[in-house]
Parts: sequence; structure tokens; C-alpha cells
Amino acid sequence: MNLILLGAPGAGKGTQAEVICEALKIPTISTGNMLRAAVKNGTKSGLEAKGYMDSGKLVPDEVVIGILKDRIAEDDCKNGFILDGFPRTVPQAEALDSMGVTIDKVVEIYVPDEKIKQRLSGRRVCEGCGNSYHVDFKPTKVEGICDACGAKTVIRKDDEPATVESRLKIYHEQTAPLKGYYQAQGKLVTVEGQEEVKETSRLTLEAING
Ligand code: AMP
Repeated sequence: MNLILLGAPGAGKGTQAEVICEALKIPTISTGNMLRAAVKNGTKSGLEAKGYMDSGKLVPDEVVIGILKDRIAEDDCKNGFILDGFPRTVPQAEALDSMGVTIDKVVEIYVPDEKIKQRLSGRRVCEGCGNSYHVDFKPTKVEGICDACGAKTVIRKDDEPATVESRLKIYHEQTAPLKGYYQAQGKLVTVEGQEEVKETSRLTLEAING
């Protein structure tokens, strides 16, 4: 099954991707994580992407499409995959179509902007493996230390309040039109993000299986 998770930054797509990955045994492809790894490793696409990412802007379509295309060609994607953070523009969705990729379902995780701002201010990510945490909703066992790999957890540069405002604006202008795009294909299902992560996960799995 090929799935897309759609939603504003901080809506909880990454967490739901982990749940689906576990349930369906298909890999999650997060273009954000791939880009952060590329920046860390100083690759050509990483160098191109860094400035855009730090200021909360979208990385140009051709850079992200290139990365995504190589990734879904890998062996572990044969039985399906979950796209987290891709596509983020209509041209990216069109690129997927023209690669001949069939998308089975697009799950939108909907959370109002005010809640998103509150959530992002508490988000922490691991410097080592990229795992995501939240000081209130998903704390690490030891403060500031990743449960999975023991590296330090930090605030992402693009989670600073001013950057969050601009990311939300970009989401509404450039990514939200994808809802109409996939609704027209009969693939869109919307899940309202709940206070309890477990409840959102239950609704997400129900939306996928339904
Ligand atoms: P994320 O972790 O998904 O919030 O992504 C972090 C940042 O990576 C975004 O703010 C963008 O700068 C960049 N990025 C990730 N995915 C995409 C995409 N599909 N198109 C353009 N930029 C992206």
C-alpha cells in the first residue's frame, strides 16, 4: 500500500507514520529527515537545501523530487511506503503521478494552527538519529537524551516561533491545495488530531483500513 500523510508541520505526521509503519510493515519516507541527513553529511543537495530549511521555506521542487525518486526505487519500498512530508506542492504531486507511482490513500492529520504553535514550541529532536519527542506529550525518559540512541535532543532551528508562523503560512498557501488535488481522485481521508496520540493513531489506522 502506498500512502501519503498530509498535514501542517507539527500536526503529528511523523508519529502516525511510525504507527502505520509498525502496523503495515512498510517503510516511512520522510523528506524532512532525508534533507536533514543530507545537510549533516554536507552532500550537494544538503548544501542546496540548508538555507531554505533554516528559514522554514520549502526546498525547491527539483531537489526534493530527485531525492524522493531515488529513495522509492530502493528495494524496501517494493511492498509499499508511507510518505511523510512529501508531496508539499502540486508540482510534487504531479511528479509522483508522472513517475507512475499509484497512491492508494492520502491521510490528512488535521490540527488547528493555534494547537500547532503550542505543540511545536515543545518539540525536541534527536541530534543523532532524528527521533522526535515532545516535552509534554512524548517526553524522553531522561530529559534531553534520546531514548533510542542516547544522543542529545534539541529544538529544531525551524521550530522557533517566527519560523513556525512562516511555515504555517507556506503550508496553507502551497501544501493545503493538495487536499483538493487528492479529493478529486477520491483518495483523501481526514483524521482530526486528538489530545491523546493513541486515539489519533486508532483513527488513522481505521481511516487506512476502512
Ligand atoms: P519536515 O521535517 O517535514 O517538517 O521538513 C523540514 C523542512 O525540510 C521543511 O520546512 C522544508 O524546508 C524541507 N522539506 C521537507 N520536505 C519537503 C518537500 N516535500 N518539499 C520542499 N521542502 C521540503
